[in-house]
Amino acid sequence: MVIATDDLEVTCPHCEGTGSEEEGTPCPKCSAKGVILTAQGNTLLHFIRKHLN
Ligand SMILES: [Zn+2]
Repeated sequence: MVIATDDLEVTCPHCEGTGSEEEGTPCPKCSAKGVILTAQGNTLLHFIRKHLN
C-alpha cells in the first residue's frame, strides 16, 4: 500500500497554503502549517501517537 503525501494532507483552504491569515497573523485553521490533515492523515497520526506512548 502506497500513501502519497496528498492523501494525508491538503493545502489549507483558509490561507491557501501560506500559513498566515493576513498581515502575518498565523492561520488558525492549520496552525500556520499551510496544510491541514485529511481524514486519512488524522487516522495515521492518531495511530502513530497511540503507539509512541
Ligand atoms: Zn491555513
